Amino acid sequence: MIVGVIGGGQLGRMLALAGIPLGLSFRFLDPSPDAPAGEVGELLVGDYDDPELLDRLADGADVVTYEFENVPVEAARRVGAIPDARALEAAQDRLVEKQLFRRLGIPTARIDDEVETFPAILKTRRLGYDGKGQRLVETRPGSDPGHVLEERVPFQRELSLLAVRGRDGDTRFWPLVENVHEEGILFSSDLASMREEEYGLQGLAEQYATRLLDELGYIGVLALELFQVGDAALVANEFAPRVHNTGHWTIEGSATSQFENHLRAIVGLPLGSTDSPSYCWMVNLIGRVPPVEQILSIPGAHLHLYGKEPRPGRKLGHVTILGPPWDGEGQMLALL
Ligand code: AMP
Repeated sequence: MIVGVIGGGQLGRMLALAGIPLGLSFRFLDPSPDAPAGEVGELLVGDYDDPELLDRLADGADVVTYEFENVPVEAARRVGAIPDARALEAAQDRLVEKQLFRRLGIPTARIDDEVETFPAILKTRRLGYDGKGQRLVETRPGSDPGHVLEERVPFQRELSLLAVRGRDGDTRFWPLVENVHEEGILFSSDLASMREEEYGLQGLAEQYATRLLDELGYIGVLALELFQVGDAALVANEFAPRVHNTGHWTIEGSATSQFENHLRAIVGLPLGSTDSPSYCWMVNLIGRVPPVEQILSIPGAHLHLYGKEPRPGRKLGHVTILGPPWDGEGQMLALL
């Protein structure tokens, strides 16, 4: 079976690394001839909205998916991508996304006229990622249809829930993870399932995600980013209709990784178990990679390099540490 993927970044590369053992082969479309996925599949180089290349991507492919959410909706429609372009449409516009959450009874930050407390965050509605396209403002700006004003949520922690839904509606969830961001970029994800059980947040997060999956008739992996407010409340920040950086720990940390289950879902295979251990920590390698020997000398450490040229702020790889022992996190932090 051939899987076409719009985008050839590290997510595409990790999809192929999970799918090749299942007998799948991969074809990617990416504007960069050096795209990380080029090492693990056929790479078509060009724009995401080039009709001829999109047709080549889909030609003979059993299914086409995408690995980032700024794919033009028309491109996703043209190739009949899964997840459905409807999910992309909602995820690409922060206002539409928040309105969808609210319609489904999923709490969000106060926005626009509802904002009472400043400083607040002014975000571009479209094309914002990794903290780009947003800034703090001290006063209410003039009305601007290209932006959404958001009140700051006084969160205890940032969490995310990874979910997967198969073609037959079978739905699985991985345990909530706690995420730490630095300058808007994900720094680390920490599997926090034991604490979540105490708070009952896992069940609440699953309820919210289920509403979203049902509403969108969703197939594949979806990531829901949440703020934990107090001990028992969750506020949705955004969702990503794709495999997600906060789910990279599942490669070693779960019985079935997010990449494998996304592929199983979109090609119509049975989903795999999402059973996971209680300790698992993932850290991104941003801008520079510490010496490989030192990383791999940490017990329980697994290294993933994406084959990208180092550049400040660029995600070059990640390290996942499983325990026991439980002290790998400190050793890894000392290398960064
Ligand atoms: P985003 O691009 O929406 O994912 O935002 C990037 C990061 O900015 C989030 O992971 C949070 O750390 C922070 N952030 C975004 N929106 C809010 C908010 N309404 N209140 C507090 N922090 C926020």
